[in-house]
Amino acid sequence: MPVQDKFGRPLRDLRISVTDRCNFRCSYCMPKEVFGRNYAFLPKTELLTFEEITRLARVFAALGVRKIRLTGGEPLLRRDIEVLVAMLAEIPDIELTMTTNGAALAEKAQALKDAGLKRITVSLDALDDTTFKAMNEVDFPVARVLEGIEAAHAAGLTPVKINMVVKRGVNEGEILPMARYFHGSGHILRFIEYMDVGASNGWRMDDVVPAKEIVETIHAEMPIEPLDPNYRGEVAQRWRFKDGGGEIGVIASVTQPFCGDCTRLRLSAKGELYTCLFGISGYDLRAPLRSGSDDDALAEAIRNLWQGRQDRYSELRTSATANLPKVEMSYIGG
Ligand code: SAM
Ligand code: SF4
Ligand code: SF4
Repeated sequence: MPVQDKFGRPLRDLRISVTDRCNFRCSYCMPKEVFGRNYAFLPKTELLTFEEITRLARVFAALGVRKIRLTGGEPLLRRDIEVLVAMLAEIPDIELTMTTNGAALAEKAQALKDAGLKRITVSLDALDDTTFKAMNEVDFPVARVLEGIEAAHAAGLTPVKINMVVKRGVNEGEILPMARYFHGSGHILRFIEYMDVGASNGWRMDDVVPAKEIVETIHAEMPIEPLDPNYRGEVAQRWRFKDGGGEIGVIASVTQPFCGDCTRLRLSAKGELYTCLFGISGYDLRAPLRSGSDDDALAEAIRNLWQGRQDRYSELRTSATANLPKVEMSYIGG
């Protein structure tokens, strides 16, 4: 029986940030004005080692976690990440996945698969190079991310999921080109409402393109129909193209919050636990980990934290809560 929080939500999913660094500067996540040249990222000694991450992952698995997603920052920037994947892949009954910006995926996909990664999600906000660059400040073409997606598909990290954050007035014009491009590809394109994560992206409700509007835009050109969720608590609402061109997803975290089914816990790169994406501070697990606590003591601390959890930020969101101090998305990985 997995440990449950105050609302009866089981602890099922763990997201592990393996670095707070990233080679992109997405305007909705790490705007360059804040995360510039002088930004102080964590020094290596602050990061959990692969052995520490794996030990914690085993404790989480014993508490009921069934899915682990490696994220960041950009997880492929963590040196020898495939070694960590191989260590985590040895834990029984865990579905191991990763979210990446895809920049280094063409070179890494096969090694990740060989190490035991099951699936991968690649973030891509536009097909048009100018819009892509305007959103993330990188100076390489979209083609490089597309190559990464195909390499992941060829390696068997399937189905590959593509995450597109939609920002009003910036890339909403890419909704249809993206839907057309991935129609019939076997990959699952997921549209994400722009969220007020962190305190640096200058979020405004007006910047959000509601999921309903995204669905209507696609349906008008390429008819779609809803699909049942794969499991309770699935974040994306599933749709399929009526012509058999595959599936898409819509993540309506702002306009249709899903806190009632939220089973996710986040572990930062330096070992803090966040029971909500919109948390202000984390619970430090690294100190007990490094000062000799045994697995039972670590499990007890995690159990207590989860059992006391009352988070439902997205259900309570107002324009006022958007300005509260919150952990950055690049720090705990989305
Ligand atoms: N760097 C990797 C990447 O971009 O895939 C992993 C970390 S990133 C923080 C994880 C996910 O969070 C990405 O799919 C990204 O698009 C999403 N994300 C970041 N900021 C967001 C925001 N303000 N609203 C919605 N999604 C966001
Ligand atoms: Fe980097 Fe991912 Fe955040 Fe973009 S969304 S800045 S790629 S961590
Ligand atoms: Fe979960 Fe917090 Fe997001 Fe609600 S706002 S779905 S509790 S992470």
